Amino acid sequence: MSVKKGELIVLSGPSGVGKSTVISELLSARRDIYFSVSFTTREPRTGEADGVNYNFVTREEFERMIAADELLEYAEYVGNYYGTSLKVIREKLEQGVDVLLDIEVQGAAKVKERCPEAVLIFLIPPSIEELSRRLHRRNTDAEEVIERRLEKARQECRESVHYDYLVVNDTVVAASGEILSILAAERCRAAKRLHLTKSIVGEQ
Ligand code: ADP
Ligand code: 5GP
Repeated sequence: MSVKKGELIVLSGPSGVGKSTVISELLSARRDIYFSVSFTTREPRTGEADGVNYNFVTREEFERMIAADELLEYAEYVGNYYGTSLKVIREKLEQGVDVLLDIEVQGAAKVKERCPEAVLIFLIPPSIEELSRRLHRRNTDAEEVIERRLEKARQECRESVHYDYLVVNDTVVAASGEILSILAAERCRAAKRLHLTKSIVGEQ
């Protein structure tokens, strides 16, 4: 992935912290951002649609994609595969479109390895009790799955030190506002604006 004009933005955080909710808010404020629809072998939850929330595929199909090197990254999470299509992301970035990925911590580490310029943002809950309440309120997972997700959440939050930014999802409006500020600041990085400097001082 050598020529990249769009910004690659990675959002991670434990299941139930509010990533999908914050992303909806973000995308309504920044309609130019392309949200990458991942591939997964997990069963669709009530209300989820194929091609919208995820591309739902069989384990066999997912393993074919791994073997064919079609994924930018993938990981196994609570018994299911999740992965990002390389082709679509590459096309969008080359067109200058900013791309947002909602992926877990192992996948985010692989993205940073392959694309060091990617902006990594970690979303944390105000407390572990509030995370538990949100997982129960979402009412999509069995109690046993929620317990596994809470245990995993503690491990994942330890990985947040490897991220560029940490945002607390206390209220959706405040969290998405902070992410919009991060994206605005990233766009202003001098290293990303050399063309503007050159237009003033000319090529040296
Ligand atoms: P994730 O995508 O991280 O798994 P969701 O976006 O599905 O999480 O959110 C999990 C639950 O928490 C949902 O019921 C959602 O409405 C709720 N939620 C999300 N953000 C907040 C917030 N800031 N305050 C209170 N509830 C929230
Ligand atoms: P959920 O089952 O709650 O939708 O997602 C479980 C976890 O998988 C979340 O942490 C989410 O960020 C992550 N995830 C979703 N898509 C991808 C992906 O393409 N790659 C990786 N590595 N993780 C993903």
